[in-house]
Amino acid sequence: MPLPSIEIPSYELKLTTIEEKIPFRPFLVKEEKILLHAMEGDQNDMVNAMKQIISNCLLVELNVDELPLFDLEYLFLNLRSKSVGETAELLLTCQECEEQNPIEVDLGEVQIKFSPNEVSPNVMLTDKLGIVLKYPTVNMLKFFSFDDDFNFDTTLDIIEHCVDIIFEGEELYDLNDYSKEERENFFQQMTQQQFGEIQNFFDNMPRLLHNVEFKCHACESDQLITLEGLQNFFG
Ligand SMILES: [Zn+2]
Repeated sequence: MPLPSIEIPSYELKLTTIEEKIPFRPFLVKEEKILLHAMEGDQNDMVNAMKQIISNCLLVELNVDELPLFDLEYLFLNLRSKSVGETAELLLTCQECEEQNPIEVDLGEVQIKFSPNEVSPNVMLTDKLGIVLKYPTVNMLKFFSFDDDFNFDTTLDIIEHCVDIIFEGEELYDLNDYSKEERENFFQQMTQQQFGEIQNFFDNMPRLLHNVEFKCHACESDQLITLEGLQNFFG
């Protein structure tokens, strides 16, 4: 007689960029192993593990390469919390005395935050000429780190990967039809002000972040720490 199989529960999650709720199953021991292994590697290993695990756990077809990074991080956090536990104990450093405080964070409360200054993805460069921006995806983590503030070079890199369409009046230009050199030439003609408007879109895109308040157990000062991005939630 074969061993009985263990029934796996399923859940649903609403992402910001997809209409239907996404059904998924939690992490199993085999996925936790993939994750632990990747945490010993570099960012690239982590990205690949994340993609692998998400594909394993989703109960629908979904191209994770196309998901904006914030949706993907949110999905991953929820997959893990449904399996490992809804709370995570993190070591947070006091900004006054640098003492490490073990703090329990309710992962269920972590949400995607929208900026009150969110910018439309259609950015007009002149009266007639505009570009359509899209949010960075997980594959762009290879090119830069989201922990840094965006400077000129990283922003130019992001723009390169986040623009598909340029339009002028009725005319549409699909950037995939042009060489890297032609694309670079186009973007380098921008003025500082036009560049700033694009940067504004990325500065104000939705983010996975969570504010944690606690009293430091060493110096007793009140602390407010903002956790942002996935690595912050894996102590
Ligand atoms: Zn302290």
